[in-house]
Amino acid sequence: MPHSIETIPLMSPGPGTKRALTVHRFGNPGARPKVYLHAALHADELPGTLVLNRMLGWLKDADARGEVNGEIVVLPYANPVGLASQIYGYHLGRYDLDGDGNFNRWYPDLTDRIAGRVGNVLGDDMEENRRLIRDGALAALDDWRAEGEANVLRKALLTLSVDADYIFDLHCHGQAVQYLYFPADYWETHADLAAELGCRVVLLYRTDEGTNFDVASTVFWHRLRELLPERVIPSPPFTTTLELRGQPDVDEALAERDARGLWRFLQRHGVIAGDPGQPPEPVGAPTPLEGVDHAVAPCAGVLSYAVELGARLKKDDVVAWVVDPSEADFDKARTPVKSRTDGVFFGRNLSMLVRPGQGFASIAGPEPLPEPDLPYIDY
Ligand SMILES: [Zn+2]
Repeated sequence: MPHSIETIPLMSPGPGTKRALTVHRFGNPGARPKVYLHAALHADELPGTLVLNRMLGWLKDADARGEVNGEIVVLPYANPVGLASQIYGYHLGRYDLDGDGNFNRWYPDLTDRIAGRVGNVLGDDMEENRRLIRDGALAALDDWRAEGEANVLRKALLTLSVDADYIFDLHCHGQAVQYLYFPADYWETHADLAAELGCRVVLLYRTDEGTNFDVASTVFWHRLRELLPERVIPSPPFTTTLELRGQPDVDEALAERDARGLWRFLQRHGVIAGDPGQPPEPVGAPTPLEGVDHAVAPCAGVLSYAVELGARLKKDDVVAWVVDPSEADFDKARTPVKSRTDGVFFGRNLSMLVRPGQGFASIAGPEPLPEPDLPYIDY
């Protein structure tokens, strides 16, 4: 089927105002593998919008040549609500200004609703069970009450992606090297994605818990296995959050490089025809998500970094000083913040001002770190 464009209206937030999602579809509806890609769910994280825009024309041409083997769904921007969140020239797109929270949280766990629908009819046939569970997930979502514009958005995004084989959620950090959140259970078979994208840091994470968008389509597969141990439950889909460097890294050359990496990955895994060649050598080794040290400011002040992004740190190396500009004694004015782990300094906030208790920098270490007693401030 040729390229099609669909418009999905969101609930109007007020009289005279209406926003919508634009969905590009390639390949044949229902064909496998189904791939879902969206960018800028955190609407102020724009690098991925250029990556997906770069791919639209390539996909259109490939589709016309019959080279899209599966079905590909692309939303170059996933969050028109957040794209409109401008305040006096500053674009804020991470939280819903109407109070509905972080746009990348609060996706529902569909397990019980799916089990209630199809738990009794699952048998020994893996593929039939896969189909039944996917249909159960779509029916459960259809029933899910979503009130308010942000929840209607969450429901629409999940409905488009919940039955996919591959889910790509394109984000970025404030300032960062290229990195990604990689599903630990797919590392053996799909590590070429990290290599293709030149990721310095690969954070292996579990997809059986959480309310982020990227696990909304995996949690229920894991939980159904626990709930129905006598049934044959297939593996959850491949899901990943790409962190395409920092918010200022919106650049055509970088976008084209990333788009080509994604393209070769899709070719190698049977979604698009063509020979991708061998994947490049990996740039970084995987480390556990629980090994990330979030440097936290002990006091308010202005950040002065001691090291460059991408630097390899040792435990107790100073990451930054928090400077009290009004203290006349130069040394006393500077409070050091040290790394709790050996690892790569991969991301930092865009703002150079910190509050006490705020996390501002991230270091990927090889071993899980203890959880803090209380959560740090994480914008
Ligand atoms: Zn984000």
